[in-house]
Amino acid sequence: MNWLPVRGRSIRQLSTRRRWRNTNSFSSHSLRYSLSQMEQLVELPHVTRLSPNVVRVLGQNPGKFTLQGTNTYLIGQRNPYILVDVGEGRDEYIPALEQALTDHATPILPGEVDVSDIILTHRHHDHVNGLPTVLALLNQRWASRNPDRPFPPPRIHKIPAPETDHHLHPVTSSIAPGHHQPTPEGDAIHDIFDGQKFIVSTAEKSTNPSYVHVIHTPGHTPDSLCLFFPDDRALFTADSVLGHGTAVFEDLADYMASLQKLIDFSKDDPESAEHKYATIYPGHGATIKEGPQHVSTYLRHRLDRENQILKVLQSADPVKDWTTWDIVGTIYKRYPQKLWEPAAHSVDLHLKKLAKEGRVEHLGGEGKEAKWRSSSSEASHLSSL
Ligand SMILES: [Zn+2]
Repeated sequence: MNWLPVRGRSIRQLSTRRRWRNTNSFSSHSLRYSLSQMEQLVELPHVTRLSPNVVRVLGQNPGKFTLQGTNTYLIGQRNPYILVDVGEGRDEYIPALEQALTDHATPILPGEVDVSDIILTHRHHDHVNGLPTVLALLNQRWASRNPDRPFPPPRIHKIPAPETDHHLHPVTSSIAPGHHQPTPEGDAIHDIFDGQKFIVSTAEKSTNPSYVHVIHTPGHTPDSLCLFFPDDRALFTADSVLGHGTAVFEDLADYMASLQKLIDFSKDDPESAEHKYATIYPGHGATIKEGPQHVSTYLRHRLDRENQILKVLQSADPVKDWTTWDIVGTIYKRYPQKLWEPAAHSVDLHLKKLAKEGRVEHLGGEGKEAKWRSSSSEASHLSSL
């Protein structure tokens, strides 16, 4: 499918805007994605059929922290579809989604809703804020096909995260009454969990139904999930693995454990030497072909950084207390200083993880001035290697 013209903005303007270099702000809140300095983004169409089962619809929110915009996905060969994420609520997203729902290889079943289930990959606003407008569109499309029948509203699903779920209240409370199906307890969001499956609609009735499988992958956020879709040998990775650059995370230990989980999962098929998934459909950026290798590269990158930090801490004789900023200045001495601030955020998260594991000692201080020393057990471990 070709890109959809977007009101008021041409594709040329959008593509010019995408050719930024790395000017990431240094605050941990705004630092969501980090791109290598030279990387340029490929242009993605607004609506793209990726397989007979999957269509990608761009959230129409390109930017420094969203790459080409948030990817949303329709899964299924015909309605009712599963919709993965809903964008950040840009007006231009609604005609793009409508095009994807209408311009489909399989004719619409008029007596069925367009979307039965919306799966939110995590709480971030660029993935969830489109809920009210998307649900209004689905309601309106149903009413135009079935003026005399009440709207069977979709269910909204997410992995629960008790400490941060309140961030979603402003969005869920602005959904019009009757536009979504609440839980029996009256909650807007249906909790989902690792291992849960959703049936995917097929063009022909089959005795062997298709499913997407939920994999809980905390780290980017506590509620981050991936979806495994065997029919496409594909993994929807949301913000845990991106199409370009590297992802950021709230908890590094969780994040690295989740990457390892995805690598282990890829090999977890006793009947086949093949990886369970090959393709990655990320939350931002282009589709990735060699999925398991890509996830391994992400993890390798983190482990390399960790080893660099430990090496720096053990390099001083006599033992010196290092600040986070000293460590950054040593590891990044060949890079311009303007890159040191965003690097400091990542090094800080690595040090906190290593401290939790007892491999470094935190001697006090906060942020860039925090002081660290290699723990004695780690030092003797390394010297015995
Ligand atoms: Zn995110």
